[in-house]
Amino acid sequence: MPEYQAPRGMNDVLPEDEAVWRHIRDTAERVARLFDYHRIETPLVEEVGVFTHTAGEESDIVAKEMYAFDDRGGSTLALRPEGTAGVCRAYIEHGMASRPQPVRLFYFAPAFRYDRPQAGRYRQHWQFGVECIGDGSPAADLEVIELQRTLYEQLGLTDLVLRINSIGTAETRSTYRDVLRVHFAPHLETLSADSQRRYETNILRVLDSKEDAAHPAVQNAPNIRDYLSEQDGAHFDQVLALLDGLGVEYEVDPAIVRGLDYYARTVWEFQPRGAGGQSTVGAGGRYDGLIEMLGGKPTPGTGFATGIERIALEVDRTEPDLGTTAADVFTIPHGDDGPAAVLKLARELRAAGVAVHAGTPGRSMKAQLRAANASGARYAVIVGDDEAARGVAQLKPLLGSGAQREVALGEVVGAVEG
Ligand code: ATP
Ligand code: MG
Repeated sequence: MPEYQAPRGMNDVLPEDEAVWRHIRDTAERVARLFDYHRIETPLVEEVGVFTHTAGEESDIVAKEMYAFDDRGGSTLALRPEGTAGVCRAYIEHGMASRPQPVRLFYFAPAFRYDRPQAGRYRQHWQFGVECIGDGSPAADLEVIELQRTLYEQLGLTDLVLRINSIGTAETRSTYRDVLRVHFAPHLETLSADSQRRYETNILRVLDSKEDAAHPAVQNAPNIRDYLSEQDGAHFDQVLALLDGLGVEYEVDPAIVRGLDYYARTVWEFQPRGAGGQSTVGAGGRYDGLIEMLGGKPTPGTGFATGIERIALEVDRTEPDLGTTAADVFTIPHGDDGPAAVLKLARELRAAGVAVHAGTPGRSMKAQLRAANASGARYAVIVGDDEAARGVAQLKPLLGSGAQREVALGEVVGAVEG
């Protein structure tokens, strides 16, 4: 074992994974632009209150999973466990309320959670997320869900189910929590230790428990829908009607409660068909109280975040055509004068936009040709003393059946591009 390894639950993304990652990032960025969303970058760390005051002290990401530390000046900072709170902090700080509303933003960002590492669950993971801030209408929820659905469709993830619910307002949930306490009290003994803890701290999350999903008391729990205010119920009905109008398939799932205090009204998750909550590919919701929690004026918002690693797990299986990452030209310098001539030629090729893999001078011709053949490049360009003296190169096609030919140094760019 090497002396140093990446921290537990944190991964290196290696060049061989890059094709899949780039495919996901490019697709997400393209889809975001199709909906006129604009990229925002916020710092990796925020003052800890940005998270504790929004997600809630009892949420998993704050209570159990947050990486918080004091910096040298005595400020308590936290590595971002999720993207929305920081984006909303930026919305307030930069007076985005005075821009045309809603403000439509997206981000790619690593998130940090001291989670129990397993497949698809890491301590550092990447999220693509979008936020639509300043529009409280059901149409805004629909826009964000449609963006997320389009992303998965374009990535070829067709076997996902949209599970959706409404959790009303903070008052609704306060009433509903009392109802759940009464409901679960006689069953506490038979629930998992995790649910017993959640019963005390964050009882809504008992519904969301992976261990107790099949427990009769969870299955028969009172439905939050019966406790929604008239307005919240109407909002939810309109979201569902819009989904129906677009022909989007969904399941209303009363167990989708999300774990963060800032959510209000519509919440949803996209999950692989037939799988449990463990593998949720992306999740979203409305967060109408969040900006106020951060000291801003009351402002509605809605958005989602989706884990890039979890998408990569799904995309790998569907084997999209990800294209090649090989260079176009592999140079083979040899002799005393070849290397200098090759350097100059490589500069011209790159200036013309041709990717050049620089071969290593001093190796045998046989070894260099073997490396060139294995590289996936379209051409090898060979320059030795004789070629350098005559101002030419040997151009050797590596793919297909073309024959090697001699080309003037000044004509290599054209020959390779043609
Ligand atoms: P879970 O219930 O699986 O723990 P969560 O509710 O904590 O998920 P969100 O806060 O909704 O997750 O995060 C949005 C998305 O980020 C998830 O749907 C998932 O794709 C991804 N994600 C969350 N936590 C992790 C993690 N520890 N490792 C990898 N991806 C993650
Ligand atoms: Mg989690």
